Amino acid sequence: MSVRCRACIKCRTYLVIHPSNPVNQVEIKRFEKQHLGHTVVTVDLNEIKGSYSSSKNNKTEKTTKEAE
Ligand SMILES: [Zn+2]
Repeated sequence: MSVRCRACIKCRTYLVIHPSNPVNQVEIKRFEKQHLGHTVVTVDLNEIKGSYSSSKNNKTEKTTKEAE
């Protein structure tokens, strides 16, 4: 089973897509807004894991504070 995610090539961060999770849909929209003007692509997590960092786990990211 492959896990898809939205990834920003410019910032090298990603957000995992959970199609059945409505909260995740909002997070995806927020991610895309934050990276507006950047190159955001949908990729398999295995392709970017290791070289990209999760935007959710990055506590210094502004989005984390907005979500709290
Ligand atoms: Zn970006």
